[in-house]
Amino acid sequence: MVLPTFSDVQAAAQRLRGAAHVTPVMRSTTLDQRHQAQFSFKCENLQRMGAFKFRGAFNALSRFDAGQRQAGVITFSSGNHAQAIALSARLLGMPAVIVMPLDAPQAKLSATRAYGAEVVLYDRFTQDREELTRKLSAERGLTLIPPYDHPDVIAGQGTAAMELFEQVGELDLLLVPLGGGGLLAGSALAAHAMSPACRVYGVEPEAGNDGQQSLRAGRIVRIDTPKTIADGAQTQHLGEYTFGVIKNHVADVLTASDQELIESMKFLAERMKMVVEPTGCLGLAAACHGKVPLQGQRVGILLSGGNVDLHRLAQWLSS
Ligand SMILES: *Cc1c(COP(=O)(O)O)cnc(C)c1O
Repeated sequence: MVLPTFSDVQAAAQRLRGAAHVTPVMRSTTLDQRHQAQFSFKCENLQRMGAFKFRGAFNALSRFDAGQRQAGVITFSSGNHAQAIALSARLLGMPAVIVMPLDAPQAKLSATRAYGAEVVLYDRFTQDREELTRKLSAERGLTLIPPYDHPDVIAGQGTAAMELFEQVGELDLLLVPLGGGGLLAGSALAAHAMSPACRVYGVEPEAGNDGQQSLRAGRIVRIDTPKTIADGAQTQHLGEYTFGVIKNHVADVLTASDQELIESMKFLAERMKMVVEPTGCLGLAAACHGKVPLQGQRVGILLSGGNVDLHRLAQWLSS
């Protein structure tokens, strides 16, 4: 297993040039004063298809050879990775097959189809999605791009933090939402090269702290699917590649509760005029609830995505 390095992140940034948005960095005087710190928010909620996942997907698909392009890509996901693969495949002119559960929200099924992907449905209770994916991939010669545990996906995700350091210079700490670890691993590679003294923290839902346990135990710890509103971080374990990078370069993993995520979502909507999905609020939630000292620090917060069901958003904001 060859772990990705910062030069892979730089190569990914070249491939993404002109395809991904250079997302803005926002500041908040209110928060700076409240915590005696300087916050910089990297707004990947404003990335194409609404999350940083476009970066990893587009980078991975850009590396396909002619044969792979002609046959196409396959993945299993009901979240942002599905839409990231579907959009990237359309932009690069290749077929995409997305394996999704029968009971996935209608909005996600139609968004994925609208990007031109073929959606194959499976029954979560009677069918194994990985087996189905492998069968389709073998039959049709499709290349599997998983949501996080792939060197090209990690390198692509790392371009968000790379861009942040280009925009604001060095930071003292960087807080990154953590699911399977693609975003955190890529961010850590960028920080290590561009801001070596920056401490990089992953933040995951309190209900599922497998990443925290894994980092502290020095091996990948597996848990049951956690119950949390942070649906982009409901992973059961880190990947081999992601953990390989994370254990070398990440200071620690913090957690945030659903209630803390809702408070951060409200702050971002009310004070900063931004829609950020619960998973995207993990970094801010950890910062605002005293999980790490902030005084006098330059603090980077990665807002990872903004895809949220409007009815649920309305409920959270008015709760
Ligand atoms: C996928 C996702 C994450 C977690 O990313 P990993 O690379 O799996 O750790 C965080 N936030 C959002 C919005 C996501 O879609």
